[in-house]
Amino acid sequence: MKIKSEIIIEVKNLSKKFKDIIAVDNISFNVKKGDIFAFLGPNGAGKTTTIRMLTTLLHPTSGYIGVNGFDINDTTEVRSSFGIVFQDPSLDNELTAYENLEFHGIMYKVPKEIRRERIELMLKFVSLWERRDDYVKNFSGGMKRRLEIARGLIHHPKILFLDEPTLGLDPQTRNHLWDYVKKLNKNENMTVFLTTHYMEEANKVANTIAIIDNGKIIAMGTSKELQKITKTNSLEKAFLVLTGHSMREEAGTARDRAKFQGRMWGVK
Ligand code: ATP
Repeated sequence: MKIKSEIIIEVKNLSKKFKDIIAVDNISFNVKKGDIFAFLGPNGAGKTTTIRMLTTLLHPTSGYIGVNGFDINDTTEVRSSFGIVFQDPSLDNELTAYENLEFHGIMYKVPKEIRRERIELMLKFVSLWERRDDYVKNFSGGMKRRLEIARGLIHHPKILFLDEPTLGLDPQTRNHLWDYVKKLNKNENMTVFLTTHYMEEANKVANTIAIIDNGKIIAMGTSKELQKITKTNSLEKAFLVLTGHSMREEAGTARDRAKFQGRMWGVK
């Protein structure tokens, strides 16, 4: 079907250097409209740098990025077509939960008539409706993350970018988030681009997985395809064959812990 093969994100020869570090090294890939596309790789692989470039927050050193039919260098218009949920909460602490979403809705020109309804729906989804009039500065880290997710969805984006969105969330909230993302993807044909270093998350949620390591895309396909080309029977084993190492879970765990300490998520 034509619509299925429509490309919504087009990336050609994209690179980013930070002085001597090549964070992203000449990557090219396409994301089809309606896909759930995951960048799977260890800490430091270049996932966040890529997502920051795709969302216009960071200038590439070289390469082309087309999002939703726009060359992202040409226009800021493209920004209204996507929602972003980042690792670090970027909410306004001096506003209430409701006001944060309202402010975002206004910025993204969500019509007044549907804004209230949408805010209510999103706050109920992340179980914060009862706390809507509380200041965000009094929220725990976990509550802030949930609010951030609600905010990313408020303007009904065509593409949702999620940078390790479940980092630090409890298993129940994680599952809830992915179920909801899958529902949005299915019912509204919302394209999802996510990054993760959790193998099971990529396996469970994504249709297409790009394995990224040291700034390069090593392989791309469905989980089954990656297993087929590596003659393995799990994504974990395929990853090992393709990259020559495991996900370095220990390093990841230590780094995650360091990240959490500063943030005090408050979600068990
Ligand atoms: P993580 O999930 O831990 O953030 P990642 O896969 O998202 O990992 P990036 O954050 O994109 O990886 O980092 C890729 C590489 O670029 C790393 O070596 C990192 O140290 C480096 N890097 C990222 N941002 C900067 C920066 N602003 N200045 C210098 N180096 C950077």
